Amino acid sequence: MKTKIAVANGDGIGPEIMQAVLRVFEANNAPLEYEFVEMGKSYFDAGHSTGMTDAAKATIENLGLLFKGPMETPKGKGVKSINVTARKVWNTYANQRDFRTLNGVDTVFSKAGIPINLTIIRENIEDTYGGIEHLLTYDVAVGRRIITRPGSEQVIRYAFEMARRKGLKKLACGHKANIMKLTDGLFLEVFQQVAKEYAEIEATDIIVDDLCMKLVTRPETFEAIVLTNLQGDIVSDLCAGLVGGLGFAPSANIGDNISIFEAVHGTAPDIAGKGIANPTALLLSGISMLRFLGFSKNAADIENALLYTLEQGVHTGDFGDKAIPSSNTNAFTDAIIANL
Ligand code: NAD
Repeated sequence: MKTKIAVANGDGIGPEIMQAVLRVFEANNAPLEYEFVEMGKSYFDAGHSTGMTDAAKATIENLGLLFKGPMETPKGKGVKSINVTARKVWNTYANQRDFRTLNGVDTVFSKAGIPINLTIIRENIEDTYGGIEHLLTYDVAVGRRIITRPGSEQVIRYAFEMARRKGLKKLACGHKANIMKLTDGLFLEVFQQVAKEYAEIEATDIIVDDLCMKLVTRPETFEAIVLTNLQGDIVSDLCAGLVGGLGFAPSANIGDNISIFEAVHGTAPDIAGKGIANPTALLLSGISMLRFLGFSKNAADIENALLYTLEQGVHTGDFGDKAIPSSNTNAFTDAIIANL
């Protein structure tokens, strides 16, 4: 029995990496069926204010799961991000980003024999991402930061449950409650309250600037970190850098009714259309989606094939041993399929 999911190709390198990942799923006989939905920059441009058609919205709400490629958002002036809108509309309040050392993906830490395996849980719908901003005068812009007790509690509870499920020993809360005493103070207070229900997990808190310093000096000391939206966004890109870059950073936006799986990276306009993008981050997101759906064997088989391919030194141009010629997206995908 196949599970039907909604798929949005995305913009820029989106269609190239999505095609690569779906080819791997097909070769693995993953029990999935796809309904492709109309969503992305071109639908914004065509006048759909949320960046998707009504039919796409209905399909995603009906199926409850969206697998998406990256989507473009203009910087500065212009429309709201489709990605942020989608997370908000469907209340996908917990953004889980897993980072780990992959053999074959050299970093300063892997070369020093220091393995990294850490998860960032980022609050996904509150904070400054509400986009409540206005100009007070020509020279002064004001933005509002909203942190709520229920919003904090649902993501912090998710983080503790995830830590319990994975058998983790530690969960840290990153914050700036020394300066933003009411907003980050509330997030930290909720963290400390919820922590009492999870006595087996060591709950610590750390000021976000100190956290950044410790992540780049001793990343192996962290197992999981929960943060507010903006701080979580920035810290998770830092963590992507620790394990080889954005090409290796998967992401799951989890809600009670709808969840969205996507790569952390964006549309990579500088390499779009060249057929050289690294599909690994989207594939890792797809692997966690298969696990989420209960298809653990398919997930494990695809993961093993990917890891073995990386270990063999096969790589796209954004990483890997420069002495070994890089493969384009198709050849990299073929190598994974050959290892299934
Ligand atoms: P980006 O992540 O698209 O690119 C940053 C750098 O990383 C570029 O040099 C790019 O070539 C490289 N890169 C990213 N993914 C890669 C991959 N799979 N393989 C090889 N190289 C890769 O960030 P950006 O340039 O700041 O953003 C471009 C657009 O993407 C913007 O419109 C932004 O809003 C959007 N964006 C979307 C999402 C999303 O859909 N979730 C996330 C981030 C950014």
